[in-house]
Amino acid sequence: MSEKILVIAETKEGEIRNVSFEAIAAAKKIKPDGEVIGLVCADDDLENLAQELIYYGADRAITVKNDNLKSYTSEAFGQAVLAVVEHESPDGIIMGHTSIGKDLSPKLASKLESGLISDAIDIEIDGDQPVFIRPIYSGKAFEKKVITSGIPFITIRPNNIAALDRDDSRSGNINNVDVDIKDLRTIVKEVVRKTSEGVDLSEAKVIVAGGRGVKSADGFKPLYELAEVLGAAVGASRGACDADYCDYSLQIGQTGKVVTPDLYIAVGISGAIQHLAGMSNSKVIVAINKDPEANIFNIADYGIVGDLFEVIPMLIEEFKKV
Ligand code: FAD
Repeated sequence: MSEKILVIAETKEGEIRNVSFEAIAAAKKIKPDGEVIGLVCADDDLENLAQELIYYGADRAITVKNDNLKSYTSEAFGQAVLAVVEHESPDGIIMGHTSIGKDLSPKLASKLESGLISDAIDIEIDGDQPVFIRPIYSGKAFEKKVITSGIPFITIRPNNIAALDRDDSRSGNINNVDVDIKDLRTIVKEVVRKTSEGVDLSEAKVIVAGGRGVKSADGFKPLYELAEVLGAAVGASRGACDADYCDYSLQIGQTGKVVTPDLYIAVGISGAIQHLAGMSNSKVIVAINKDPEANIFNIADYGIVGDLFEVIPMLIEEFKKV
């Protein structure tokens, strides 16, 4: 990959998502002397958002302001990004491996006839060639990949490549590109939020996840309390979601969200392979389970064998003292 790298930023609730800052750091890692261009597409407040990208390492930023970019649709965002790619002819494109990244990147890569590497967790430089490392077989193995055709397009897994430190003294040009977004076959009329406010699960640094061992929706209350003390997000196994203890938006695993927090606390979760697929790359794993033979202990860094309803209140009390 060479001189100019375009980072497609994402926003959530009017703010740039952390993974977009991580994508800027990834771009710098690929080409320390290259130019990193942050792109933000939205319907409002673009200057501030673009400035954030520059504070986190982008050399300059491009904005596309359009009423059709209020909520994500692949058609509208696809048209916006393609117009910018045409305008800038970047040598590489990076974005987060988020729901939006997973939807947008293959469509754009195919339109650009480019190679796509999704879900990269690290980058090595081999001579001039960036080599991307990504998990395969539900995280049981890793492969190293390079792109050989088109504009290399990469999505990176949140929480794996550290963002650069914010530097408010950084400056860079911010230009708006007018894009005529048209012929849309879908428009978003309304967004109905299902999850409560709080830390975003896919970008959370600390996660407290509950399983079927929590036994009821009420049983999740101590987990929320612990999460609040730790500034953590709450997640769940599919067992807990299937039992209706919590919403499916909390599900972590092969068919749920893939997370890589600094600390993952698995509470009353047995450690089925499908659950491990979503969390086994967490940096530190703590398991609380009353069964000493539970599989989760095989991947845990720290294990507490005990009844979660006794252990969690003790943890809350101790963490409150810190
Ligand atoms: P269980 O396996 O029932 O474990 C509950 C645990 O709680 C036990 O280990 C028990 O010892 C412990 N426990 C009970 N009471 C207490 C207590 N008082 N204190 C402490 N510990 C206690 N699962 C996912 O999680 N995510 C996925 O994305 C996913 N995708 C799947 C896809 C497919 C195609 C299939 C077939 C399955 C998938 N599953 C997924 C389901 C998975 O196989 C398991 O069934 C599920 O993860 C089990 O959830 P659990 O660990 O909460 O429940």
